Amino acid sequence: MERTLAILKPDCIKKNLIAKVLDKIIEADFKIVSIKMIKLSKESARGFYEVHKERSFYNDLVEYMSSGFCVPIVLEKENAVADFRKLIGATDPTKAEEGTIRKLYAKDMQENIVHGSDSVENAIIEINHFFSRNELLG
Ligand code: ADP
Ligand code: MG
Repeated sequence: MERTLAILKPDCIKKNLIAKVLDKIIEADFKIVSIKMIKLSKESARGFYEVHKERSFYNDLVEYMSSGFCVPIVLEKENAVADFRKLIGATDPTKAEEGTIRKLYAKDMQENIVHGSDSVENAIIEINHFFSRNELLG
């Protein structure tokens, strides 16, 4: 079994889409290991997206991710990382496949509803960014 980190981003919460997105996730056979609702500090958002710190969109991304509540979720499934990336679709919703979460609900390249880890190694780092050990005991 593999784990990945999903985050329902502030636009998802503001648009009241938590239940709709969770339903897609559960329909796709992911098990919810842990879930919480938190407001990221700018420092925490900066740290989470540190790999993008040289990118032109980094400051806007940090503002956006700390602009309201997020819902980080640890998901478990065989092949969870790749399967979740498939379920959410491309970063740019105009390029996302039909039926994907971003195609259905994302506004644009920034406000794209949901995060998904891009590798098993990063999934472990990202899960540890949000969840302590006692929050991961199923
Ligand atoms: P993904 O979330 O699909 O893994 P990236 O890791 O490349 O995408 O980017 C992280 C997040 O930064 C994106 O989900 C999106 O919110 C934002 N982002 C990425 N590229 C852009 C861009 N060109 N303009 C604005 N925001 C962007
Ligand atoms: Mg990414």
